[in-house]
Amino acid sequence: MPIFEYKCNQCEKEFEKLVFAGEENNISCPECKSLKVAKKMSATSFMGNSMGKCATSSPKGFS
Ligand SMILES: [Zn+2]
Repeated sequence: MPIFEYKCNQCEKEFEKLVFAGEENNISCPECKSLKVAKKMSATSFMGNSMGKCATSSPKGFS
């Protein structure tokens, strides 16, 4: 389950939230309950790892 970072556009609070399927469009700020929150693209490990594996050339290819 991915944890996304959000920032509230109303009170500017930043928070992390576990988002379940179907819940993405119903995220509310824990501080002011506003639905005007923006998802932040965080460099979390699962994204970084998969990208890194693709970009890094395999050592086995060189001998
Ligand atoms: Zn807020």
